[in-house]
Amino acid sequence: MHVDDIDTLAVLGAGTMGHGIAEVAALAGYDVRLRDINEELVSEGYDQIDWSLEKMADREYITEAEANDARGRIEPVVPVEDAVTDADVVIEAVPEDMDIKEEVYREVDEYAPEHAIYATNTSSLSITDLSELTDRPGQFCGMHFFNPPVRMDLVEVITGAHTDEGVLETVSALAEDLGKTPVRVHKDSPGFIVNRILIPMLNEAAWLVEDGVATIEEVDATATANLGLPMGAFELSDQIGNDVTLHILEYLQSVVGDAYDPAPLLEAAVDEERLGRKTDEGFYDYGDGGADYEDADAREEVEHRLLGVMANETAYLLDNDVATTDAIDQAMGLGAGFPDGPVALSEGVGLETLVETLDDAYEETGAERYVAAEYLRTAADAGGFDA
Ligand code: NAD
Repeated sequence: MHVDDIDTLAVLGAGTMGHGIAEVAALAGYDVRLRDINEELVSEGYDQIDWSLEKMADREYITEAEANDARGRIEPVVPVEDAVTDADVVIEAVPEDMDIKEEVYREVDEYAPEHAIYATNTSSLSITDLSELTDRPGQFCGMHFFNPPVRMDLVEVITGAHTDEGVLETVSALAEDLGKTPVRVHKDSPGFIVNRILIPMLNEAAWLVEDGVATIEEVDATATANLGLPMGAFELSDQIGNDVTLHILEYLQSVVGDAYDPAPLLEAAVDEERLGRKTDEGFYDYGDGGADYEDADAREEVEHRLLGVMANETAYLLDNDVATTDAIDQAMGLGAGFPDGPVALSEGVGLETLVETLDDAYEETGAERYVAAEYLRTAADAGGFDA
């Protein structure tokens, strides 16, 4: 199917991501069937879209007429057959639970037309495993939007082991037509690109404090002043939600290994319900002014540790042909706000320096997360990732 043949999208799940994706699609001119499991939930999702469109019109990002047209293109529905019977693409954004997703795909298979492509918004589940729950593994891929979909430009388009190349091209073109930037993920690899690099960096920030190497303020000052990030690592985890950061780490630890062992500092924040901005307190207290650090607190040692961990993940993605250097830096720019991506930042400091940093940290701690990848050592000897 060519992108020009797509008229109607079914969005399954009207929660945080589903209603945002439905809004983006309606604004781009697609007819959307927004489905949730009961009237109340689907109406809540629709109301959020309504509110967001009104806000955009008030701020003159769109006209009143465009907002009304978008509203008119979204049909909130409950029966699954009403959602998918005339869908060209089914975007699944139901909870991150294999059993729920399995049940959803079983129902969808019954009613979706044969030509329909299925795209899952999963953050972590295997695209291949999900595709095998359906009657069309070749017409199945990941389409990973970032939160909130209306504001975030990145869509990771992820292949499963069975996905047809034409399907990936169509879904990439669809993402572009929705006004987003698709970045291709060439293997079904845990964490895809952004979460695979970002979340271990947030964990390293916590380990640096845990191990007494630096303070929270020193880590955050380094992330902003030296790496150029829009906010510190702890501030970012507070924004994402410390429970979400921990959940992704635990997932990576379970499928990849102990290099993703979460720092007790992060676990304690979650245990004590200091989840971040959403609970008004995380690593910082947002009822009491929030983050407070100065550029002068930045330290080179911290910079090298944060970068060393990201360079190691970058090496993994390149070694396994998950993504190219350009795709990695572009994804981290759009999905995590990095002005320079991890490839540019690591090469700027020098891969050899980062290998030494990892080796020293390993010697001191014996922790698996500091075992430098062979690919990183080779790239360091060659003078760069693409050298
Ligand atoms: P959410 O809990 O906010 O929304 C999920 C919605 O799906 C709920 O409204 C729920 O009632 C509904 N639902 C449950 N069973 C359903 C069914 N059978 N049919 C239709 N709807 C059903 O979750 P979310 O944060 O929007 O996450 C959805 C997916 O997107 C997950 O796979 C998640 O990993 C992924 N994701 C989330 C984020 C994020 O920041 N929240 C970012 C990227 C991807």
